[in-house]
Amino acid sequence: MRAAPRRSIEKSNAQFQKALKRLPLGVASTFRYWGDDRTIYVDHGKGGRIWDIDGNGYVDYRLGYGPAILGYADERVDAAARRGMEVGGVFALSTERELAVADRIAKMVPGVDLVRYSNSGTEAVMAALRLARAHTGRDSYLLIEGAYHGLFDAAMWMANVEEWSQRGGGDPEVVAYSKGIPQELKTLAHLVPMNDLQRLEDTFKRHGNDMAAMLIEPIQGNCCGISASGDYVRLARKLCDQYGVLLIIDEVKTGFRVARGGVQSLHGVTPDICTFAKAMANGYPIAVVAGREEVMRTFRYGGAAHGGTYTAHSVSLAAAEECLRILDETPALETLAKYGENLKAGMSRILNRRGIVHSYAGHDSMFGLFFAEKAPDNYRDWKTSDYSFYDQMAYHLHDLGVICEPDSREPWFMCEAHDASCLEDTLVAFETAVDMTLEH
Ligand code: PMP
Repeated sequence: MRAAPRRSIEKSNAQFQKALKRLPLGVASTFRYWGDDRTIYVDHGKGGRIWDIDGNGYVDYRLGYGPAILGYADERVDAAARRGMEVGGVFALSTERELAVADRIAKMVPGVDLVRYSNSGTEAVMAALRLARAHTGRDSYLLIEGAYHGLFDAAMWMANVEEWSQRGGGDPEVVAYSKGIPQELKTLAHLVPMNDLQRLEDTFKRHGNDMAAMLIEPIQGNCCGISASGDYVRLARKLCDQYGVLLIIDEVKTGFRVARGGVQSLHGVTPDICTFAKAMANGYPIAVVAGREEVMRTFRYGGAAHGGTYTAHSVSLAAAEECLRILDETPALETLAKYGENLKAGMSRILNRRGIVHSYAGHDSMFGLFFAEKAPDNYRDWKTSDYSFYDQMAYHLHDLGVICEPDSREPWFMCEAHDASCLEDTLVAFETAVDMTLEH
């Protein structure tokens, strides 16, 4: 069956023109701008679907960049959030619930002794890096190419792979993601390609004695779900120990999604510090920086400063308490991983019938799709591959009522509400989108 062609987004287009007068690019976050005639405005979401202001429904695999792990407007979590609202919001004082949630996290994630809260992934990773610097007395740090750790200056360095592939040798130069980041800070950031064991060793040999931390996303949620191999994560742990560098595992996207104890638990590696956010409260703004006792106790007067007006807000905390309970005590994670497995199998059937070579990266709960025999091992491979078929297909999918990110670096996120009806609608649209892309 061929899916119906695009519905109208007239109201979204009109809203965009009005919003342009008040909001830069007509949006509240630059990543939400999809072009002058494609930027949609959401009316509401429920379960695995969203509806725009024109009344078009979409099966949604962005899930707000991952948080809606149980589906939008989950009644269990929303009821808990309402209870959090009734007690008063923020007090600039402590509540019992912050210990209850911290206890749950420590129970779920091996190696977590102590927990501090933040409001966003950016804030949590920023706190983690400050903690590592305060604890080690060192300033520089190691990032992996293709990683995203948030919007703060220290995280926003990337490899200039275009220039590097033209040059055809050596290492890519390090460039800032954004204007407004002081060039002076560049000397503190070192970059390595994912999964290259030799380069990792060499980099530690050169800079290990000066580095405070190595940051690693065990599945790159901002680079197609490219995964660190177990060997790579274990080598990172070993080198960090050898050089007195703290290992920060950033599980802002993977945490409480891929496994109850994080991807770190699947590799049997314990970081010194780890960060969690998105899936922990089904979309309510809360994040954590957590880790080993000796390191975490550096959050103190005279040590690493940490805090914030909205930290451990009672609404988000109550939502996190209920969401983590569900993820810990019910088979939600197994269910949504199974939905991802079914979706991948359905897509593969469609692609195989047409002889289209493809592969997947990541995990069933968050996966990248590639039109190549083998998924890339690192950002350099992805950047120098041809992703134009994917990009075209993504636009057709939107027109047919399925939302994935138009940028192939963002994985497909699964939620507990992506049931059989979502799967069926998605596969009908997918088949049409693939054929439309082939026709061009
Ligand atoms: N770390 C990782 C791994 C992320 O994926 C993100 C956001 N996509 C962040 C940090 C920053 O989180 P936030 O957008 O909540 O600031």
